[in-house]
Amino acid sequence: MVKSSSRKIILVCEVCLARNYFVNKSTLTQKQRLEIKKFCNSCNQHTLHKETR
Ligand SMILES: [Zn+2]
Repeated sequence: MVKSSSRKIILVCEVCLARNYFVNKSTLTQKQRLEIKKFCNSCNQHTLHKETR
């Protein structure tokens, strides 16, 4: 049996709030909110992306 310990989260651009990335996050290893610098197509530059539900 496979333990499902990860859940899907959405990363949104902090500048324009576009939902650019969908990732699986392990709830066991990462308890704090994700904050990653990624490229945003709407802003056309690298912006900070934050986890949302
Ligand atoms: Zn953006």
